[in-house]
Amino acid sequence: MLDLTSLNEKISLCTACKLGEDRTNAVPGEGPKDPDVMFIGEAPGFYEDREGKPFVGQSGKFLNELIKEAGLTREKVFISNIVKCRPPNNRDPLPDEIDTCEELWLSQQIKALQPKIIVTLGRHSLSRFLPNETISRVHGQPRLKGDLLIFPMYHPAAALHQPKLRGTLISDMQKLPNLIKKENKIENQEVPAQPETDEPNPKQLRML
Ligand code: SF4
Repeated sequence: MLDLTSLNEKISLCTACKLGEDRTNAVPGEGPKDPDVMFIGEAPGFYEDREGKPFVGQSGKFLNELIKEAGLTREKVFISNIVKCRPPNNRDPLPDEIDTCEELWLSQQIKALQPKIIVTLGRHSLSRFLPNETISRVHGQPRLKGDLLIFPMYHPAAALHQPKLRGTLISDMQKLPNLIKKENKIENQEVPAQPETDEPNPKQLRML
């Protein structure tokens, strides 16, 4: 398994899909190597492409405010996107571009980082983890997908176009501290070998 630094280097040089042709900079993502929370948006935009950093435009400013609402700082969370290169004219990434980038890089980032919670930002990100759900139905509600705890949220850019979503994003984000606390508690309760018993283990209890 590649470490985060090697992954970043490889992503910066990647040309595995068409999006690699027009980008200025690939945007692997940024944050610590052992974050509690990983935010996954959709794709870099104009400013992200120019700077090689995720969420640095207007929606990035709002994301920073949201992160503060959760009592966190940007330095404590990992922020990335489903695809690492900007689609031309900010079009939606195509399914084959998403598949290629996810298979090559996002899945490896998740393995390397092992975040306790993945916050999906927007419907494209949500659909990679919970393809049968809609954002209007599940935003602000944690869901288990295998071993991953997914916390779906609207994309911060959605609030720039629909101001009424601003309050929804803030109140969803305010649920994150309790979720982190709960995950830490579960992790501390986990024991490597389970004795033979019919009692559910702490991870199973999370699902009840
Ligand atoms: S979007 Fe992903 S797969 Fe496509 S060129 Fe960029 S890094 Fe590579």
